Amino acid sequence: MSTIKQALAAAEHTCRERGVRFTPVRRRVLAILLERPQPLTAYQILDHLRTAQPRAQPPTVYRALDFLLHQGLVHRIESTNSYLACNHGHDHTGERAAHWPQFLLCDECGDAREVPLAAELQHLLAQLAQGHGFHIGKRPLELHGLCRQCRSAA
Ligand SMILES: [Zn+2]
Ligand SMILES: [Zn+2]
Repeated sequence: MSTIKQALAAAEHTCRERGVRFTPVRRRVLAILLERPQPLTAYQILDHLRTAQPRAQPPTVYRALDFLLHQGLVHRIESTNSYLACNHGHDHTGERAAHWPQFLLCDECGDAREVPLAAELQHLLAQLAQGHGFHIGKRPLELHGLCRQCRSAA
């Protein structure tokens, strides 16, 4: 089985366990994101979806994305308003909805990578925040910079 097929099977399993419906369009949108390493905007997803469903409309994509975000299968990159399939590993499906996503984002080409911070580092950040009576939420942490390719091209 390909990685994409495995990820789709894992997503299906997660949805079944949670008693939510993994409809064909939700599956297709997740597949579109899994097939591409780069984050996609909702309109880029719509373009890909239309190759199979020419009459698909933006709300179809937004509804599917809402569902996938809610299930922790997809993340939204806020600074570029684009979406990326969760790369948190297929063995952690139970934790996936709850995890705090962290990304390296390239300002040049828009490449985004989910690179979970070491548990110790997360703990240190939580402690630092706690010292200020602050609780860090689960919104994605976006670390901006230049990727390897763009650095070597510079
Ligand atoms: Zn993730
Ligand atoms: Zn880059």
